[in-house]
Amino acid sequence: METSPRTYEIRTYGCQMNVHDSERLSGLLEAAGYVRAGEAEPDVVVFNTCAVRENADNRLYGNLGHLRPVKDGRPGMQIAVGGCLAQKDRDTIVKRAPWVDVVFGTHNIGSLPALLERSRVQSEAQVEIEESLVTFPSTLPTRRESPYAAWVSISVGCNNTCTFCIVPSLRGKEKDRRPGEILAEVEALVGEGALEITLLGQNVNAYGSGFGALSAAPDEVRAMTADGSSAFAGLLRACGTVDGLERVRFTSPHPKDFTDDVIAAMAETPNVMPSLHMPLQSGSDAVLKAMRRSYRQERYLGIIEKVRAAIPDAAITTDIIVGFPGETEADFEQTLHVVREARFSSAFTFQYSKRPGTPAATMDGQLPKEVVQERYERLVALQEEISWAENKKQLGRTLEVLVAEGEGRKDEATRRLSGRAPDNRLVHFQVPDEPVRPGDMVTVEVTYAAPHHLVADKPVQAVRRTRAGDAWEARLAEGPKGVALGMPTIGRPAQVPAAASGCAAPTSTGA
Ligand code: SF4
Repeated sequence: METSPRTYEIRTYGCQMNVHDSERLSGLLEAAGYVRAGEAEPDVVVFNTCAVRENADNRLYGNLGHLRPVKDGRPGMQIAVGGCLAQKDRDTIVKRAPWVDVVFGTHNIGSLPALLERSRVQSEAQVEIEESLVTFPSTLPTRRESPYAAWVSISVGCNNTCTFCIVPSLRGKEKDRRPGEILAEVEALVGEGALEITLLGQNVNAYGSGFGALSAAPDEVRAMTADGSSAFAGLLRACGTVDGLERVRFTSPHPKDFTDDVIAAMAETPNVMPSLHMPLQSGSDAVLKAMRRSYRQERYLGIIEKVRAAIPDAAITTDIIVGFPGETEADFEQTLHVVREARFSSAFTFQYSKRPGTPAATMDGQLPKEVVQERYERLVALQEEISWAENKKQLGRTLEVLVAEGEGRKDEATRRLSGRAPDNRLVHFQVPDEPVRPGDMVTVEVTYAAPHHLVADKPVQAVRRTRAGDAWEARLAEGPKGVALGMPTIGRPAQVPAAASGCAAPTSTGA
């Protein structure tokens, strides 16, 4: 008797690393015969959790509680919990929510299909958490969410110990992929139609340190660094040689590891886009020290100055935490000073809140909520003003925009389409006369600037149909399998803000 395949749904929380891991989870499940659930209730729900955000555990248990009656009414339904919170809470999850079938950690996402099967056969919950990476996630099957833009993970883990961040204890020490493997994946993605890739790492520009001593590094790394440049700069330049790859981005770099050769590689590699997301966290040297972030204000601003000199059009974005324990008004003023000097095009701003398990959670000098709130509002108002002023500088510029799907929430009402400029600014533009698909390129003139987006309301100057557009159309023809991670559309996954740590920048991980 033929049975229909089991269906799955993945609910993703947190940073870009999680979004990318969810692509792997989808790929693994589909390789094991599952199909993505449509409208109907799925047979398997997977929570890919984040431990960084405040009350992450309350939210998870709340969501699990909501699912319980659904599961009770659906024999055979399974619930799995993975990601950072699973790595942290382990079997506590099945103690608090005994209706959960599988708990897996950040180091063994490849085990999910086997654990689901074992739990089904043995009718008992399976908890499997590894202490170190079992398989580099990038070697696992993937169900890419976007045919035109893709994440490529170059490293996992982090060797830093920022006092507000739980990531190192949950993701482990940095492990790097060999450059040959990374480039092979990039080439394969471009072969499938992708025009844009984003290199991902918790501390992306420390790439290379995961190999240990240079003498122990793979030959390709030694070749890349023979002229004295860093492995990450070498990798950016190598991406510049991939035929058909039009846009390269990376996230998130750490200011400590941001070397001049990376700026040179960005400036001199035409397909590396003029955008940089570099977490600041605080402008105060005293707070940076307490955060155990080893750069200081002067170094941070020095990097910005060099990036602006080498890449004048660069849009620079950041993450900032307000109200870290011990932050004084004078410290906060230093953050405002950096914000004024750096002129970020946008910033992900967070109010500090305790993350259990991090050193900062038990530090003296925790600030009252109202103090943090008031500073936060001042910071947001300042950044808003700067974002708007910076966006206004774009008025009248002609930009080539990569058409996206799912990025313009009001597109239908405003009869516009949306996409990303080379510097990653969001642009809403008039629907052109000729058909245009996500993944195609349009040339437009900016006619209006808002703080968080640009508008191009003159007729589109040119439409360039691309392989990525073809790939999008082909995927559409496949049917509902193309629908993204519980999101309503196909396309590049929506930007998620940094996980209050800088370890998960807007669509990112790290630093
Ligand atoms: S904030 Fe970034 S650099 Fe610091 S420990 Fe977390 S992942 Fe590492």
